[in-house]
Amino acid sequence: MHVILMGAQGSGKGTQAERLAPRLALRHVSTGNLFRAAIASGSDLGLAIKAAYDHGELIADATTVSLVDLELASIAAERAGGGSSRGALFDGFPRTPGQAESLNDLVARRGEAISAVIEIAVPLETLVTRLAGRRVCTTCGRTYHVEFDPPTVAGVCDRCGGEVIQREDDRPDAIARRLDLFFAQTEPLLAYYRGLGLLERVDGDQPVERVTDAIAAALARRDVSAAGEARS
Ligand SMILES: [Zn+2]
Repeated sequence: MHVILMGAQGSGKGTQAERLAPRLALRHVSTGNLFRAAIASGSDLGLAIKAAYDHGELIADATTVSLVDLELASIAAERAGGGSSRGALFDGFPRTPGQAESLNDLVARRGEAISAVIEIAVPLETLVTRLAGRRVCTTCGRTYHVEFDPPTVAGVCDRCGGEVIQREDDRPDAIARRLDLFFAQTEPLLAYYRGLGLLERVDGDQPVERVTDAIAAALARRDVSAAGEARS
């Protein structure tokens, strides 16, 4: 069984993936982590990714899909060896209907299935408020949030004493533009999974714990139970 988490920047998707993966006995699969691991391994795929990064290019779909295929094989091998992972919890993949179709093919070829696609829905205004609170140290790059994780002294980095500022692209109008683009690009993907009857919408505009519970409840309705419940 595999689960896909979808949500805009600021939706808390990454946090939810980290909280849910152990609870559901799924392996957290983020393409960012797959790319970093591939580069570190020095494999052919890793070299292709590094070359794309170095040239400021997007990673080709075929490369991403190959990495995901290897990850699915790794999860299956772990499971066959008595490991605990029951499938993948995708975070940040797929991004396009084309990638979604490739993922369907990969999963079907293994005789596996995507159990659910969870959309973490957060109103645009809430996302803008969350993201516009971001501050960054100009010296060491540590990030802060004015509300959730402020520096001890306003404007001064706890770690290095550098100046903590708001970047241009963290200003509200820039954030709203970025989010508009994200929603426009994501809509076809949501429509695709809605058409397959896999989409579950969860209210992401509530405390972290309640979002986790809401996702777990939506998955339970689709027979993706928590790991402990599955064994009992
Ligand atoms: Zn600093």
